Amino acid sequence: MHAPMRTCVGCRAVRPQAELLRTRILLADDGEQVLVVPDEYVRTCSKRHGLSASGRSAYVCPARACLERAARRGGFARAFARKTPAVDPAALWRAHEEALAGKIDLLNRSGGTAAAARVQRLAAVATAMRAAVGRVS
Ligand SMILES: [Zn+2]
Repeated sequence: MHAPMRTCVGCRAVRPQAELLRTRILLADDGEQVLVVPDEYVRTCSKRHGLSASGRSAYVCPARACLERAARRGGFARAFARKTPAVDPAALWRAHEEALAGKIDLLNRSGGTAAAARVQRLAAVATAMRAAVGRVS
């Protein structure tokens, strides 16, 4: 009905949240160690590294160009409202691809109609990512 809308930190386009890649930031208590990860990795990464997730998220279109622009122009630091280590756009892109594939796989195995609807939504994002790879400028 009323889909939540978010702004891409790369191109500033406002799109439904479900169509965007969500990136989070994990922090050590002293603020020294910082990890930038796909939202899907927050739980495992925070446990593994003893970091806590900031409440803030950065959203980008499923387009490599948007992610690269965000990394280059400080879009992540702005979204996280703090100094952020240099984000490697290629690595983050790959992490998002893997996270998405993993989530789809998990949902497929869990089954059910709610899962099927989510899989459809996530598959659309994955398709957009694959289509976008050729358009890197
Ligand atoms: Zn964008």
